Amino acid sequence: MPRSIRMTKNGIVYQLDGMQIYLDPKNVASEGINFISHAHSDHLPSQNGGIILSSMETNEIASLRGFRMENFVDAMDDFSLIDSGHILGAKGLLFDDVFYTGDICTRERAFLKAAAIPKCKTLITECTFGLPEFIFPKIDEIKITVNEIISDLYSKGKPVILLGYQLGKAQTISSIFGHWKPLYYHDSVKKMNDLHRKLGVTLEEGMGHTEAESGGFLDKKPWVMVAPMMSQKNQFIKHMKEKYDAVTIGFSGWAKSSRFSFGRRSDYSIPLSDHCDFNELVELVHKTGAEKVYTIHGFVEEFASHLKKIGIDAQPLREQSLDDYV
Ligand SMILES: [Zn+2]
Ligand SMILES: [Zn+2]
Repeated sequence: MPRSIRMTKNGIVYQLDGMQIYLDPKNVASEGINFISHAHSDHLPSQNGGIILSSMETNEIASLRGFRMENFVDAMDDFSLIDSGHILGAKGLLFDDVFYTGDICTRERAFLKAAAIPKCKTLITECTFGLPEFIFPKIDEIKITVNEIISDLYSKGKPVILLGYQLGKAQTISSIFGHWKPLYYHDSVKKMNDLHRKLGVTLEEGMGHTEAESGGFLDKKPWVMVAPMMSQKNQFIKHMKEKYDAVTIGFSGWAKSSRFSFGRRSDYSIPLSDHCDFNELVELVHKTGAEKVYTIHGFVEEFASHLKKIGIDAQPLREQSLDDYV
């Protein structure tokens, strides 16, 4: 039976006997199946159309973020949604002996379990951190390092702001460091944490920053606050630094890179990521036993050529390259 896979302006399209399967499309196509892996904005479509296959959690988070999925289903014959361990509700898709990872993390972090890795013939994998320089420390090491930093700052009476992406990282940080008191949340993180709690994730309760500030709670130092990733130039951070002498700790996979300085925009930068690091990506590829690997997102050329070097047939999936196979 003829099958093809290609990258289009609307994302990845897999053709299976006249049926189109769209993987994280920019716009939901009116025919075929549209798979949405998770609710990060670069994976959420901007328009409705046909059937959307996604997890219940992704549907809920998407609607909090302003995208209401029409024609949503969370199960379909011949398609398996596989836990990808990236953020709450994130899934990969296994169908027709193809596994699409979406965004994936095989390292357990707080309430997020490691991704499940299925066997497949064809693998379409992200490689955000597909360079050998990206090797992340163990979560236990990160816990020790960060607790020491906070403890040291507390002894000086300094408040601490923990920064991570509003969806995903902020909840992991809230879970790992929520034992510090008093604990406050940036209003946007509080909203996202409340939804996580509603979906069954245990997270400490905490006051939102607007309420905490107007109530004078922030004047009683030190404290810990979880906020979305922002640069030191951001008005909110400037204000928190000028008024309360707050110190920032940023959490990002880019933190360790010598080349990508945007990972080090905070007073302290900690390499905590919701993606696989380089070694984890290679291990993932091996575990699937895939005969053909397509790389997407990130260092697609570099990672594909590394895979070729170790004897795995791999290539970046790019627009224009039409690849037919059986
Ligand atoms: Zn993501
Ligand atoms: Zn992504």
